[in-house]
Amino acid sequence: MSDFVWLDAKRFRGWPWPEDSTGKDPLYGADGWCRDCGTPQVPQRGDLVLQKSGLRPEGAWTPNWRFDLVCVSGAVAEQIVAAGFRVTMRPVGWPRQPAGEAFQLVIPVVGDRWFDPAVLSELTVARHGREGSRCGTCGVWRWMSVSDPPLVDVPELADVDVAASPEVFGSGWSTYREVLFRRAFAELLVAVSPRDFEIREPEWS
Ligand SMILES: [Zn+2]
Repeated sequence: MSDFVWLDAKRFRGWPWPEDSTGKDPLYGADGWCRDCGTPQVPQRGDLVLQKSGLRPEGAWTPNWRFDLVCVSGAVAEQIVAAGFRVTMRPVGWPRQPAGEAFQLVIPVVGDRWFDPAVLSELTVARHGREGSRCGTCGVWRWMSVSDPPLVDVPELADVDVAASPEVFGSGWSTYREVLFRRAFAELLVAVSPRDFEIREPEWS
C-alpha cells in the first residue's frame, strides 16, 4: 500500500468546454451527470474537450473545474505507455483549432471503501460542522472536503496503477473523488511537470 501516493495539483491549466456544463456534457453525456449536485452518474463515455485559449498542452496538468482529472501531452503519453503503467488514455478534444496533441487519463473507481466512515465523520465535523449531504435528486452521498484523510487497506489497488476513490466529496457544485497514483507513476508526472504536481505521502490507518 505504501506504493501509492497522492498527487497534489499546484495549479490548474486549461478550461473544459462547454462552459455551461463545466465540460461534463462531452465526458458523461447530457443525461450522464446530476444537474443538482454535478456528480457523474455513469462512467466516462466521451472525450474531454478543452479550450485552446491560454493552454500550452505540455507535460502533465489538471484542468480547471475537473479537479480529479489529469491530462498529459502526446510525448508524456508515450512515456507512460513505454513505462508500462496500466491506465487508459483518451485523446483530448478541442472545440475549434487544436492546441496540440493531448490525452486524458481515465481513472477508474477502485474498491468499495477507502476511508473509515467514523474517521471521515470526525474530520468533516471538526472542520465544517457537518459530515456531508445526500443529493435529493440523484441520491449520492458526498462527504464535506477534508485534506488527505487516512486510508484503510484497499486490496483492489494491487491490480491498478492509478485509482479514484469510491467515496465522493464536495458540496454545492464541487464534486470529486480522491485519486491515488502508484509512486513510480506519480514520480514520472512530477518529473515532467514539477510546476504542476507534487507528491504527498498518504496516511494509512
Ligand atoms: Zn445529485
